[in-house]
Amino acid sequence: MAQLSDDCFAFGGPMMSVDEAVGLITTRVNAIADLETVALVDADGRVLAHDIAAHLPLPPFTNSAVDGYAVRNADLPQSTEQALPLDGRIQAGGLAQAPIKPGHTARIFTGAPMPLGAETVFMQEDVRVDKSGKVVLPPGLKPGANVRPAGEDIPEGYVALRAGQRLRPQHVALAAAFGLTSLDVVRRIRVAVFSTGDELASPGEPRAASQLFDSNRFMLMAMLRRLGCEVSDLGILRDERTSLAHGLKQVAGDHDLILTTGGVSTGEEDHVKAAVESVGSLVLWRMAIKPGRPVAMGVIDGTPLIGLPGNPVASFVTFVHVVRPTVLALAGSLPEPHLPIPVRAAFTYRKKEGRREYVRASLRRGKDGTLEVIKFPREGAGLLSSLVETSGLVELGEDITQVEPGQDVGFLFYADLL
Ligand code: AMP
Ligand code: MG
Repeated sequence: MAQLSDDCFAFGGPMMSVDEAVGLITTRVNAIADLETVALVDADGRVLAHDIAAHLPLPPFTNSAVDGYAVRNADLPQSTEQALPLDGRIQAGGLAQAPIKPGHTARIFTGAPMPLGAETVFMQEDVRVDKSGKVVLPPGLKPGANVRPAGEDIPEGYVALRAGQRLRPQHVALAAAFGLTSLDVVRRIRVAVFSTGDELASPGEPRAASQLFDSNRFMLMAMLRRLGCEVSDLGILRDERTSLAHGLKQVAGDHDLILTTGGVSTGEEDHVKAAVESVGSLVLWRMAIKPGRPVAMGVIDGTPLIGLPGNPVASFVTFVHVVRPTVLALAGSLPEPHLPIPVRAAFTYRKKEGRREYVRASLRRGKDGTLEVIKFPREGAGLLSSLVETSGLVELGEDITQVEPGQDVGFLFYADLL
């Protein structure tokens, strides 16, 4: 477990910016050192434990990039076409029997090793074979054309994958290209997830007239899984300090992170704060983010706890900015900052200076064919439809106070948030 001190989430200021929150998490959360070895087919989404240097250049040998005819550079036609006799045929996976003879050309196929002495390949579409069977080559081809030199992709010894890389399919492909069969990765981060609230019923259980089904827990568990976590679904805790405290304390020992949703405001029926304080330490981060409200950060027996707000959209947005960096820090992952892409706004919006806002929005083609972004028509932080019927978030920085149609704004796809 990543042992944290009780005061590790302490923060002096009244309002915390999103950047301050991420900075604090990155510096104060310790990475877990436990590793495991996984087969390549199971490596997607895991965090690489060690640097991997190329012990093999890629490509491993110089080969043809096209189906065609290989020649020595000395035999490249200069100003008129030249007919050269054929000498040899090399398929992918085969080897030339001898170096290419001067004044000759060899039939070669994509991926086949270049015969010794051959330096350039003519594409088969650019040549013709004359009546005598000679290959007629056009003038003007650049020396070295259509050849992939050994190591042109990755030279031997180059550190091609870095420790902390969150593996995606292309990284797995690179490991396979080096001939590796397994990778050392950080073990999965174990996260305990609770919902809190007397108004919640679990799907599949009876729902009283004054209750709604718990949706956040399923959203958060799905988000955690996308981050590669092992999730313990611990159900719903009632709005009652003692049972909350007991439930949280029980899971601290065998999880790396405790995540709750609901009950972190300062109302009389928000009991998470008092519960955590009775078994550990807690600070409320008033983050300058909308939707958001306070996020609770705590430590129970050395295990970090994050208490997200109950409103689904606030829960979603604060997950992205607080839980994601925490999970990445626990896994020793390289930072993966979000980079909103500029898109033309097709809406008007007013906001307060000094806080960052995330507006649920979708992209569409404007009348002139350019991409533009439209805002979901309603704003409530409880509207699940607003997350379902949009494709991402417009990020409006702290300095912005208004958006007018035609202005560029930064857009983040939901698909890129985790
Ligand atoms: P709270 O943060 O506990 O004050 O809750 C704020 C709002 O979010 C209330 O309307 C709750 O009913 C709602 N809410 C809290 N937890 C959940 C949950 N797990 N799933 C769906 N809605 C929730
Ligand atoms: Mg509540």
